[in-house]
Amino acid sequence: MNINRKPIFAANWKMNKGASETEDFIKSFLSKIQGQNFAAEIVIAPPFVSLPKLADLLHSAATGQNAHAIQIAAQNCSQYDSGAYTGEISVLMLREFFVHYVILGHSERRSIFGETDAVINAKMKKAREANLKPIFCIGETLAERESGKLESVLRTQITEGLSGLTEKDMAETVIAYEPVWAIGTGVTATSQQAQDAHAFVRSVIAEIYGADTAGRIRIQYGGSVKPGNAAELMACPDIDGALIGGAALEPQSFFEIIANGCAE
Ligand code: PEP
Repeated sequence: MNINRKPIFAANWKMNKGASETEDFIKSFLSKIQGQNFAAEIVIAPPFVSLPKLADLLHSAATGQNAHAIQIAAQNCSQYDSGAYTGEISVLMLREFFVHYVILGHSERRSIFGETDAVINAKMKKAREANLKPIFCIGETLAERESGKLESVLRTQITEGLSGLTEKDMAETVIAYEPVWAIGTGVTATSQQAQDAHAFVRSVIAEIYGADTAGRIRIQYGGSVKPGNAAELMACPDIDGALIGGAALEPQSFFEIIANGCAE
């Protein structure tokens, strides 16, 4: 963690929690963070159908007292504006529910739904047109790491995924480094593996956008982050928060990850 970059802890609920479970989670989570003043940004990405409930709950909390601001993220968006795209959700629809962030390029979107770097790039551009802040996910498979392709895979995902995006766009973008072999597996990258990958990602951003942008961009780590490993990971100089799947489904463990991550 670097004091010049505000860490960002984002819960990716994936296909979990409809409206009533969202309500249960938020009530419990808000009671835990009440009165805390974490020097961190907190983001929750529920399924699309739970966005209205989340927006309502956070709006009521914000008009109460002392609620730590929580930002809303979507887990995906369409690369198109509107029209005959059955099952898709546009960036303008997301804006109506006070969505500020959108997760793009998640490895599950890449591997299960076939999203290519070109599709992810189109979504990144569409998100920025609507002034949404992308959480741009990249990461290598175990086979790619073991065959020495870590850096070339990350470089390709970065150059193709961010193609055509400006320095100004980068100021509103968060990168999530998520080794595919660590997502949902219980296996976490060691803090050294994570730090090395983050430093490499930052160096590629510096080559493309310059040292200032690279020094400012936040790079989250994702992949089996838990309360027990958050502090060690967040102590690394190039790690600026976490993108959390499984452990963010319970209010207590999401809270503990943030508290432990901020305590280093
Ligand atoms: C994720 O899906 O982005 C993720 C990091 O999941 P998990 O924390 O469960 O590994």
